[in-house]
Amino acid sequence: MDDLWQALHALARAEKDWLVATRRDLHRHPETAWAEYRTASLAAATLEEAGFALRMGGDALNAQARPRRLDPEQVQREQARARAQGADPRWLARMPDGLTGLWGDLILDDETADESGSPRGPLIAFRFDMDANAGLNECRDADHAPAAQGFASCRDDAMHACGHDGHVALGLGLARVLAALRPELARRFRGRIRLIFQPAEEEGEGAPGMVAAGAVDGVSRLFGIHLSMQAGKSGALVCGTTHFLATTNFEVFFDGRAAHAGLAPEEGRNALLAACTACTALLGIARHGEGATRINVGEMRGGEAPNAIPAQAWFRGETRGESSDINGFMMAEVRRMVQGAARMHGCTARLLCQSYCPGASSHPELAALVERVARDMGGFDPILPRAEFWASEDCCWFMNKVEEDGGQAAYLQLGADRPSGHHTARFTFDENVLPRGVELLARLALVSLARRDA
Ligand SMILES: [Zn+2]
Repeated sequence: MDDLWQALHALARAEKDWLVATRRDLHRHPETAWAEYRTASLAAATLEEAGFALRMGGDALNAQARPRRLDPEQVQREQARARAQGADPRWLARMPDGLTGLWGDLILDDETADESGSPRGPLIAFRFDMDANAGLNECRDADHAPAAQGFASCRDDAMHACGHDGHVALGLGLARVLAALRPELARRFRGRIRLIFQPAEEEGEGAPGMVAAGAVDGVSRLFGIHLSMQAGKSGALVCGTTHFLATTNFEVFFDGRAAHAGLAPEEGRNALLAACTACTALLGIARHGEGATRINVGEMRGGEAPNAIPAQAWFRGETRGESSDINGFMMAEVRRMVQGAARMHGCTARLLCQSYCPGASSHPELAALVERVARDMGGFDPILPRAEFWASEDCCWFMNKVEEDGGQAAYLQLGADRPSGHHTARFTFDENVLPRGVELLARLALVSLARRDA
C-alpha cells in the first residue's frame, strides 16, 4: 500500500490551491438552510466530473420528512439569486422545491456483481454539511482575514461562521483525489464510496429527509467531520466524538384578551404575562438524575402598545438532553408548564415542535480505526481518541441509522486555528489544514473498502 499512500499524499498536496479557492468562493457566497442552490450545484458539477453517480432532488431528500420548507416565493427568489451568482441552471432544475441535498457514489464493484448475485463490496459514506449561518453580519475589519483578502460574505444577513464552507471543500477535494486514483482503486478494491452533501444543518433540519431517502441504507462505515470545534488548533485531530445531545426546537403561541390598560385592565387576559410566567418556569425545570439537560428560551415577542393589555405573545426555545429519553422528559415538562402558565393567567397556549434531533456517539471501534490511520499517516498532533461534544448535530440521524443497520459511524473533528469562536462575526479558520483533511478521509475510505487480493 505504500505506493498508494505516497500517491495520495502527493495528490492531496496538489489540491491545496483548488481547496483554498473553493473554500473562499463558498465563503464569499454563503447560503442558509434550504437555499444551498449554488453550493449544491458546485458539488453536483464536481462530483459528476469526478465520475460519481449522482442522486439529487426528490431522489436524495424525502420532501415529507423535512421538518420545514421554504415557501414557493422564497424558493424562486433563492434560485434566482443562485443563478445570478453563477449557479448552473442545469443543476438548479434538478433541485425543485428547496430539495438541495445530494450524494454521489464512486462505484468500484465488479460490473457483474449485481446480476450474478455475488455480494457487492462494502458501501462507505462520508457526510458533509453545506449551509451558512443566518442572521450573522461578517466582520469587515482589516484584521479579519476574509475581509482583508476579499472573500468575506457578499451579504450582510448570512455568513459561513461554522466552517461548513471548509466541509464542502473537503468533500469535493476528496472526490477529486479519489477520481484521480480511480483506475488504481478499481484494480485493488471492491466497494462503493458515497459522498453525502446535506443542507440545513444549522437548524437541525436537513438530515432526516436524506435518511428517509436512503442516503445511508446499507452503509457499513460512515464518517462525519467538523473543522476546529473541540479539536481547536491546526494539527489536532479528534478521532471519535461522543455525547451529542438530543434536542428539540419549539415555539409557543399564547392567546389572551385585549383590554384598555387604564379603563378596564380587569377585563384583559395578558398573553405576554402568561408567556413571561412560562419562560421563568421553564428555566426552573428540575435537573435529571440520569444525565445532562439544557433549556433555553431564546426569542420572545408580544403586545402592541404600552396602554393595551397584550392579547398575543410568542416565544421559541429549545431543550436538550444527554439521551433522547432525557430530552423527552424536558419536553414533557415544557408542555406541562406552558399549559399551567397559560391557565394561571386565563389564556390559552399552543406548542409546536419545529425540529427534533436525536443524540448519538461515535462507535469506539471505528474511532480506534481513525486513530490508527491518523498515526500511520503522520502529521497530526495531538491525536485525541475522543471528545465529548455536549452540543447537537443532525449528523446523529445518519449515525444512528447506520448503527441500527449493523454498521459503524464515527464523527471526527479536524483541528484548525481560528481567531474567534464558531457562530461569531469574526470566525474563519486556517485553510492549511484542508489537504491533510482530504488525505485522512481518503485513507479512511481505502482502508474500509474490500481488497481484491485479500
Ligand atoms: Zn457546524
